[in-house]
Amino acid sequence: MPDIIQLLPDSIANQIAAGEVIQRPASVVKELLENALDADSTFIRLIIKDAGKTSIQVIDDGKGMSETDARMAFERHATSKIKSANDLFCIKTMGFRGEALASVAAIAHVETVTRQAVVDLATRIIIEGSEIITHDKCQGSVGTSITVKNLFYNVPARRKFLKSDPVELKHIMDEFHRVALANPDVYFTFHHNGNETYHLPKANLKQRVVGIFGKNINDKLVPISEETEVAVFSGLIGKPDAAKKTQGDQFIFVNKRYIRSNYLNHAIRAAFEDLITKDVFPAYYIFLEIDPANIDINVHPTKTEIKFEDERLIYNYLRVSVKHSLGQYSVTPMIDFSIDHNFNHRYSGGNATDEKNSLNTYHPEIEAKFRPGQESVRGWEEIYRSLSDNRSVSNTSRNAEVSILESEAYKTEGTGNFHNYASREPYQLHLSYIIHQVKTGMMMIDQQAAHERILYEQYLEILQSGEYSSQKELFPRTVELDPAKSSVLKNILDKVRGLGFEIEDFGHNTFIVHGTPCPLENNANIENIIDHLISQYVNNLEFELGIEDNLARSMSVSSGLKSGKKLDKQEMTALIDMLFACKMPNKSPSGKKCFIIFELDEINKRFNQL
Ligand code: ADP
Ligand code: MG
Repeated sequence: MPDIIQLLPDSIANQIAAGEVIQRPASVVKELLENALDADSTFIRLIIKDAGKTSIQVIDDGKGMSETDARMAFERHATSKIKSANDLFCIKTMGFRGEALASVAAIAHVETVTRQAVVDLATRIIIEGSEIITHDKCQGSVGTSITVKNLFYNVPARRKFLKSDPVELKHIMDEFHRVALANPDVYFTFHHNGNETYHLPKANLKQRVVGIFGKNINDKLVPISEETEVAVFSGLIGKPDAAKKTQGDQFIFVNKRYIRSNYLNHAIRAAFEDLITKDVFPAYYIFLEIDPANIDINVHPTKTEIKFEDERLIYNYLRVSVKHSLGQYSVTPMIDFSIDHNFNHRYSGGNATDEKNSLNTYHPEIEAKFRPGQESVRGWEEIYRSLSDNRSVSNTSRNAEVSILESEAYKTEGTGNFHNYASREPYQLHLSYIIHQVKTGMMMIDQQAAHERILYEQYLEILQSGEYSSQKELFPRTVELDPAKSSVLKNILDKVRGLGFEIEDFGHNTFIVHGTPCPLENNANIENIIDHLISQYVNNLEFELGIEDNLARSMSVSSGLKSGKKLDKQEMTALIDMLFACKMPNKSPSGKKCFIIFELDEINKRFNQL
């Protein structure tokens, strides 16, 4: 048998290795920006075309490379940043693996022009699929410009799996935000398809946050600053009222490196305690400075995870620091609205079995009955009929009504009218749920989920039929968005008009609203709704729902009724009627149950339990 093992040619080895480092255009952006920072640049320009699929260019004014280094930089494991294994424990640069440029050059067309201050001419190197095409001298300013074109041109499978331009652009923006936030003392600009999306001169952290996320956040930030023996904590935290429904502006950096850590996120969240409700996310931009010897950044190839020597200590210090700064800036507590535990406590007997049997538990049989599809619609109609049919009360439910009538609670607050109390009038529980009698027992409706379902179907219908109507604003309203959201809105302005917004682009990230969709309330906060609409829309891009579905969902969330809003009887009845007029009333567009039914049999059983 002949020997069959052979070494892979470098170009193939590089292509395979590239998969680890470069997943999408945003990975190239991250690597190029980090290299520019490591070269001590003070001004960095990022210029991209077609969400990075056509071209990504980073121009810096850093120290540049010598002619030999410029060639070496594209070899695998070629780095100027570490020399020995010991150096791994005191890394101060962003890069250190010497893999990025070799990886990029294996799967794209790369042009580098670089010049050091001590020489007159720049070196130019063009590499395509790890092969040097050109290596010569040219005019060029001090620093480095690297242009990466046609990413994955030789790996069609990967190119095919790239997402749509808006999704890839969002990933690029995320990387850009992280790098720009961690380095406010560096001047950054960002152009996409010829438009300047960000212009961020050297600034302090707060100015940088405002430059990226818009002026609205300016007065909602409190500083954090704490020195402990394990780390120095600094940065900014959003006040509780700046917390948002969508996860987004949460940044933790360790030695200027953006990291992902559910553990540390939890520490910050814990510091907010009951200052915010469970369904919102606080904003924060927090920096930890730790002796590099006490962390290991070598755990993940794309380096967003990190290991700390004493994670628990850091957790505690972080929690206390955030708490301290929230307290110091006397952020007044809001009323906690998390109704869940109260509800559970009231109905469960306290032991594990009772907890399981609690009225709040999931009922697979009921769930199965109302799964989307034709059958569910039939199931619906039955329930809906029974809502108005309050005279045909079954024996079991009559018993239940009698027990309610005889209860203390009823005697004190009851109306004395059997039908009014027992069957017709909905009742709002903890300003979040509506309780209503149905033929087979009791229905509990989640007002927020239900309203989202109603609005989603309404807006989808409006968008699909093209028949929208607007209510004119007496005084046009001005909406100012941050640069990222503003560029998204510009791209989908026509569709947003299709919802019923009469809206114009006024330049400088500002929009004028002359009219609003009819389903909106008169006193709605238009600025918040549009801001929230765009963040929802961007978050949903990942799911590739199609623009109309996405907008309808986003609109239902941004303008929907929230838990915590008091509803009068008429509003509750209208909500129930509208919910059951929906095509799929059982779930909100994001999959949350709109209602739960508690069967009388189940209720009786529980009362009869010893
Ligand atoms: P790493 O950053 O891990 O060292 P890279 O492949 O990203 O590996 O870069 C290889 C080397 O090329 C770097 O160590 C650095 O010396 C040089 N280099 C890359 N980009 C730049 C730049 N923008 N300016 C100066 N030198 C650079
Ligand atoms: Mg690098």
